Amino acid sequence: MTNQTRIAVIGAGIVGCSCALWLQKKGFAVTLIDPEDPGSGTSSGNACTIAEYGCVPVNSPDLFRRLPSLLFSSESPLSLDPAYVLSHPAWMIEFLLNCREKKVARIIRLLGKLLTKVYDGLDPLLDMADARDLLTQQGFMHVYVNQQEFDAVKRVNQARREQGSTFVELDRGDIRDLEPNLKIPFERGLLFDSISHVLNPLMLCQRYVECFKRNQGELLRHRALEINHGAGAVQIRLDNGETVDAERVVIAAGAFSKSIAGIPTQLLKLDTERGYHVQFNNMQHLLKRPVSWHHAGFYATPTNQGMRFAGTVEIAGIHKEKNPRIINYLNRKAHEMLELPQQPDQEWLGFRPTCPDALPVIGYSTTSEYILYAFGHHHLGLTLSGITGKLIAELANGEEPSHNITPFSPRRFL
Ligand SMILES: Cc1cc2nc3c(=O)[nH]c(=O)nc-3n(C[C@H](O)[C@H](O)[C@H](O)COP(=O)(O)OP(=O)(O)OC[C@H]3O[C@@H](n4cnc5c(N)ncnc54)[C@H](O)[C@@H]3O)c2cc1C
Repeated sequence: MTNQTRIAVIGAGIVGCSCALWLQKKGFAVTLIDPEDPGSGTSSGNACTIAEYGCVPVNSPDLFRRLPSLLFSSESPLSLDPAYVLSHPAWMIEFLLNCREKKVARIIRLLGKLLTKVYDGLDPLLDMADARDLLTQQGFMHVYVNQQEFDAVKRVNQARREQGSTFVELDRGDIRDLEPNLKIPFERGLLFDSISHVLNPLMLCQRYVECFKRNQGELLRHRALEINHGAGAVQIRLDNGETVDAERVVIAAGAFSKSIAGIPTQLLKLDTERGYHVQFNNMQHLLKRPVSWHHAGFYATPTNQGMRFAGTVEIAGIHKEKNPRIINYLNRKAHEMLELPQQPDQEWLGFRPTCPDALPVIGYSTTSEYILYAFGHHHLGLTLSGITGKLIAELANGEEPSHNITPFSPRRFL
């Protein structure tokens, strides 16, 4: 394969943009395909953290016990649309099977190892795209209203420690000293001092794409409808009737990855955990660092635009409108936490791409040596974007991947 090999990347979210830049770094000619503004989807509205501590999945052995209160309380960050779940039972059944103790322990180990490589993938892209100013290392805090809440996640925090996360425990006084504007007297907390966050994830994608274009990258503002693969090449049919020929294609369309025709059926294991944010512009001075109110299921993150309250999980597919109950919930909790104007400036819904085993899909398709997958990063897509791009570029270049990707192969769904 010469360096003039053309690779198409479908999807210009943070994962697709990272793949595109890493492929250029390896010398490939790259075409990036997306009908929307790069980064404007799920990658724009997240909680902005480079969550190296994020090895513990939503899947949990005690979810069964907590499920009734999580589903039926008006104060719950989790919601399910029963009609959606009943008409798409396979994902939910597999998700629940992956809540067994042994399965969760395996997920934690695999994510923990991958998370140690985050900056191997991210640092070169920040330098290449001249985007270091968008990352700030202010640490990150989890807060708990009382000792009981804190004790309830002891095992989770122990698992984080075992995977190499470093953090210190905080009492009420420490929390007040670190974040004096918090209105609630949180009794316990954790401080992860070394964690960074992105000041504006949309801007980060935009910087990546500017760099991509400077490197002669081709950006096509169309939807990919279908992939056909034959001897030595793929052909991608776009929504304007045109086709793109390439030697390889990387599918990085997030939660929408399975909607492209010609993709093998194992992708049907992908669904979405919808997540929301409300944002209050120009209020970022209220916190120094992202603070997660653990049991309320969201992060308050100071961005370069304002204070963003991002999180919650809703299982309701990709088509339903925003759920006003969840927007109201976030808005109410935001006001309990900080002194804010009455109405947020932004109410946002995003679609985390999630497989039931909480692992991303990184690797070659099981049916074609021309199709690579890079999606399914659920709560960690921003964090894992750089390392995913690096691994995809190594695979495309015929190199031994620098991290074992066998557990992330789509083969696991066969
Ligand atoms: C509330 C919330 C908080 C979060 N907080 C964090 C956090 O703090 N840290 C973290 O690491 N992660 C976080 N995440 C997760 C992270 O945002 C996602 O995992 C990540 O954005 C997924 O990126 P992506 O590029 O795979 O998908 P997307 O951003 O969804 O991008 C996919 C792109 O594909 C395009 N596309 C779709 N179909 C087609 C098609 N047929 N043809 C061409 N293009 C197509 C779309 O237009 C879109 O631009 C959070 C998510 C949410 C919802």
